[in-house]
Amino acid sequence: MAWDFETEPEFQKQLDWMDAFVREQVAPLDLAFREPAAPYDRRHPVYKEVAVPLAAVVRQRGLWACHLAPELGGMGYGQVKLALMNEILGRSSWAPSIFGCQAPDAGNAEILAAYATAAQKRRYLEPLLAGAIVSCFSMTEPQAGADPREFTCRAERAGGQWVINGEKYFSSHADLAEFFITMAITDPTVPVHQGASMFLIPRDTPGVRIVRLAGLGGEDLGRGHHAYMRYENCRVPEDSLLGGEGQAFAIAQTRLGGGRIHHAMRTVAMVKEALRMMCERALSRRTQGEPLARKQLVQQYIADSFIQLEQFRLLVLYTAWHIDNGHTDAARTYIAAVKVQMAEVLHDVVRRAVQVHGALGCSNEMPLASLWMAVPVMGIADGPTEVHKLTVAKQVLKQHKAYDGLWPRDFLPPRVADARARLAQYLEHEAGNL
Ligand SMILES: Cc1cc2nc3c(=O)[nH]c(=O)nc-3n(C[C@H](O)[C@H](O)[C@H](O)COP(=O)(O)OP(=O)(O)OC[C@H]3O[C@@H](n4cnc5c(N)ncnc54)[C@H](O)[C@@H]3O)c2cc1C
Repeated sequence: MAWDFETEPEFQKQLDWMDAFVREQVAPLDLAFREPAAPYDRRHPVYKEVAVPLAAVVRQRGLWACHLAPELGGMGYGQVKLALMNEILGRSSWAPSIFGCQAPDAGNAEILAAYATAAQKRRYLEPLLAGAIVSCFSMTEPQAGADPREFTCRAERAGGQWVINGEKYFSSHADLAEFFITMAITDPTVPVHQGASMFLIPRDTPGVRIVRLAGLGGEDLGRGHHAYMRYENCRVPEDSLLGGEGQAFAIAQTRLGGGRIHHAMRTVAMVKEALRMMCERALSRRTQGEPLARKQLVQQYIADSFIQLEQFRLLVLYTAWHIDNGHTDAARTYIAAVKVQMAEVLHDVVRRAVQVHGALGCSNEMPLASLWMAVPVMGIADGPTEVHKLTVAKQVLKQHKAYDGLWPRDFLPPRVADARARLAQYLEHEAGNL
């Protein structure tokens, strides 16, 4: 019997250690350095003087980037263990960086590991895995995100180089990254899924410009780390190509699949936090002579939230298990499914947690408002919910086929007649007993 919902005791000890470490050592960074991209600023003194020593403790404990294969400096733990770890790390904006598994660098490292040449690995992957630098994935364009057929950024060969021209939008951490992984069309005569390629572009390359930085809702205009970028006659050597020509989408899928499930794992942590806050408030706040927790409508919030959280968590773990076991087709369906579910569950549970906190829940004096902002992000970043629903539906439909006939296969009259004919002797017996 292989189904098992228990964590190995040795690994549970690691999780317990992480839980205390994040609460006691990392949480102060979350509170004192609240700017969303602060954990990515490798030049900031707090990163060097506080985060780096904490990361050293994590390494000593054998928990640094541990989802990666040992040859890449990880422990090869795989996705199920990473899911359990991310249920702790996702409570904190700093913790993923301190454990070497932050987005988007974790996904970027995975594609470099899979597609980079030895020289590219030395130059980009090694410092990235060491946590010395951060990276930027530059794919979305101002006029198109979900549908790459609308992409226009071009790369052309000229004089032994690639010349890149075009614009990108929401290239996260472009201002902090040492290099960009940029998608551009190299062959416009074929569909974009075969005609686009990925390039590795160092930050100081002439022709790469950040036009402006956007932030998320709630951040002041002009602040933020999601770049509107222009590549203007940006020349890079031929060997800047990552993987083969025309391979951009195969590469992007490697990264985005991992990125999506990792977001979902951290979302489990966010939902757990929202439910915890909701329960504590319901038990502490009194109205009409009793705690909110005694009100049946509030109890319904709590029950619905618990059920949604548990369903979502199991789906995340099951998806991680499919990935670890190399079930590529199933993993594709389940990754799309968790991607959809994470925004919906986060929405429902955070919404209820805000409601139970009243004015305080809407205020900037609780962490709930920033959890609320994560709701649209989870429904849009790495592809919108609608597109992932289409993927789920297409994959599910592949497992079924059309039934040839005027009436459906489950049409009752012929089935009942057939069953009655097969069981006629018992039916007669039954009639005789009446
Ligand atoms: C916080 C954050 C960080 C990001 N970081 C990066 C990054 O580092 N690098 C990068 O390249 N990109 C990044 N993105 C961009 C992200 O990948 C895109 O936002 C996403 O792919 C959607 O593209 P879009 O915003 O252009 O929306 P659009 O493509 O304009 O879609 C808008 C809406 O249209 C609807 N829609 C779209 N397609 C369909 C469909 N087929 N059926 C039904 N409805 C549909 C959906 O409601 C969708 O939300 C980031 C986004 C966010 C929010």
